[in-house]
Amino acid sequence: MAVGVLALQGSFNEHIAALRRIGVKGVEIRKAEQLENVTSLIIPGGESTTMAKLADLHNLFPALREFVKMGKPVWGTCAGLIFLANKATGQKEGGQELIQSFEAEIPVPDLAATEGGPPSFRAVFIRAPAILEVGPDVEVLASISIQSSQEEIAESEGKVIVAVKQGNLLATAFHPELTIDSRWHSYFMKMLPANNEIVSIASSSNLFE
Ligand code: GLN
Repeated sequence: MAVGVLALQGSFNEHIAALRRIGVKGVEIRKAEQLENVTSLIIPGGESTTMAKLADLHNLFPALREFVKMGKPVWGTCAGLIFLANKATGQKEGGQELIQSFEAEIPVPDLAATEGGPPSFRAVFIRAPAILEVGPDVEVLASISIQSSQEEIAESEGKVIVAVKQGNLLATAFHPELTIDSRWHSYFMKMLPANNEIVSIASSSNLFE
């Protein structure tokens, strides 16, 4: 089965192209029922307020929540990260803006350990959200230090988290679909449970029903 890419607005084409580069089929998702045909989902970057309005208009939120609850892998990039967050602060009308736009070489030890390649990743930030607080089950995969006059960032001494994983959820504040390094896409593919695992969980629960 293919990987779904939420295609309401934003950089969904770029994600589909990045998946193609690693030999994976990505399909555009615009309707709730299309989620039934995909193993996992990428929520792309774009403009989170617009994307949320469109998702609401298409009545997608209940199906998206269900998809997450079923333990299927979901990866949010930038605006997609905001979708997956429990709480977003610093929202201004028309969208939040915590980190400005820039490119930086960021250290990503976990990515290099799983996917090989250089120990850092060239990350493209476009009016990106910053992760300022994580829950106890969240694994921090990358953080950066930035200079900012914004109160929330100054409080954390300029150190902001930019990539996290929590169970079946992955979130990056930057845009790996805009660079040719496909390691984040390969990393996300490894979050898919092996088919036999899914089958054995289903059959053992049936035994006790
Ligand atoms: N800050 C943007 C928003 O709120 C996200 C930007 C992006 O996805 N590049 O939607």
